[in-house]
Amino acid sequence: MVDSPLFSLRCFSNVGRSGGAQVVSLSRLGCVYYGIVEHELNHALGFYHEHTRSDRDKYVKINWENIDPTTQSNFELKNTNNLNTPYDYSSVMHYGRTAFSINGLDTITPIPDPSVNIGQRKELSAIDILRINTLYKC
Ligand SMILES: [Zn+2]
Repeated sequence: MVDSPLFSLRCFSNVGRSGGAQVVSLSRLGCVYYGIVEHELNHALGFYHEHTRSDRDKYVKINWENIDPTTQSNFELKNTNNLNTPYDYSSVMHYGRTAFSINGLDTITPIPDPSVNIGQRKELSAIDILRINTLYKC
């Protein structure tokens, strides 16, 4: 998952264990913030973006017309195991509403209440932590 549209800001990780050692890229310029480090390490632990989980269409509307076509894969629905946890707008794995926008308009709109906050990069949410503990049986 490449999480920054700017070439100079390379924050990315593969999802899950990809065999042997694995690169998590955290450019000193733009990625070394607590919430972003947690986000990238959460990919390495096996988690996709919250707004791509299997039931996301009940909780967000993806505005494809506003998304940079070269980055649309960041919004494609994934066949995820949601570990019996609710959809989490406050997940550190959720993109913000204008992520990868080509025109400044929303690429992700929460439904039914479009004013819900999404895209925080402060820290793992309570549900993010619950999922890690559930997946790794902690
Ligand atoms: Zn990501």
